[in-house]
Amino acid sequence: MSKNLRKVCVVVASRANYARIKHLMKAIQNSEHLELQLVVGASAMLYKFGRVYDVIRQDGFEPDYQIHYLVEGENLATQAKSTGLGIIELSTAFDSLKPDVVVTVADRFETMATAIAASYLNIPLAHVQGGEISGNIDDSVRHAITKLSHLHYPATEQSAERVRRMGEESWRVHWSGCPSIDILINTDLRLPEKEYFETRGTGRIFEPSEPYILVLQHPVTTSFGHGAQQISETMYGLKDIPLMKVVLWPNSDAGSDDLAKSIREFQNTYHDLPFSYHINFKPEIFAALLANAKCLVGNSSSFIREGSYLGTPAVIVGDRQAGREHGQNVVFANYDRKDIQQKVIAQVEHGHYPVDHLFGDGTAGERIARHLETIDLNIMKRCTY
Ligand code: UDP
Repeated sequence: MSKNLRKVCVVVASRANYARIKHLMKAIQNSEHLELQLVVGASAMLYKFGRVYDVIRQDGFEPDYQIHYLVEGENLATQAKSTGLGIIELSTAFDSLKPDVVVTVADRFETMATAIAASYLNIPLAHVQGGEISGNIDDSVRHAITKLSHLHYPATEQSAERVRRMGEESWRVHWSGCPSIDILINTDLRLPEKEYFETRGTGRIFEPSEPYILVLQHPVTTSFGHGAQQISETMYGLKDIPLMKVVLWPNSDAGSDDLAKSIREFQNTYHDLPFSYHINFKPEIFAALLANAKCLVGNSSSFIREGSYLGTPAVIVGDRQAGREHGQNVVFANYDRKDIQQKVIAQVEHGHYPVDHLFGDGTAGERIARHLETIDLNIMKRCTY
């Protein structure tokens, strides 16, 4: 590698990170002015969460560092400890790789660790998906990362404006659209053949030709201890709807174990009903599942981001996405099985909504890479308020 390439270090610490940053990683790799450095860690390393590390390597990326820093337990204390361990481990990685800029995505505790390690090392930090509003601790983490970041790549115009209103200088804020949409425009959104699903998951085997509902509900860290009841309302709300339900296990946030236990109990009790349970799909298969579902149910932000672009009807349960900008495809439901059931039936009957470009046009990765080639990497921030 020539010496004058800008070294851009991308940290992938969860499957959500990877799907969102994959096309940016490709654009960096293809750039004549940038060199990709890749650090993979936390839940992205673990089989329990689908081991995205393997998918990343199959896609042709070779990580420079792989780090374990997810503390087992999935509760509030381990979430804080994982952040601490992440700061320690990532500081070592950045100190050794000496990137010109570090890229981090969204609002998770792993992202917080990246932001703290990079900023204390005086390494410019670029943040993707800042300025959004949601429920959960994610909201505070996202805004804290904005204040630690030197470059901002928000997904919507409203988020860009919010970042500027947080006192960030305008030249540091560059609207890119949401990189989650990049996957959609670069993927054949037809579902794979049935053989693909025959060897995957538990419960009923999913036949891609049958109509289905996609279910993905994560813990809400700010209501830790209530997750089992929250997911149970969703499962019972879906129980009598005569469509296949493709259910994904929750992410690694505090409370994950509680939700997983509740889903397992439901699975054991109703093993003869049309529910198919899966740990993880690679981003392209997940995109096809989003595109072809009759309805998306739960609290994944993908139901709002990719969902708006695809127009797939969605029922967002509870407050994890409270206040997030969304398109017409979304309706909100309480943690109440009757409410969920009625809204899902109405959304299935409604069918797909028109395409909405609220979260961009699928060129975010290219836009961010082009910007990183030449933008000033000055870390001396001035607050504008
Ligand atoms: N995703 C994936 N495979 C899966 C589930 C999700 O690649 O099996 C990706 C998908 O692109 C999605 C992202 O992970 O946009 C985030 O989804 P998730 O619900 O995990 O995260 P959230 O943003 O709600 O925390």
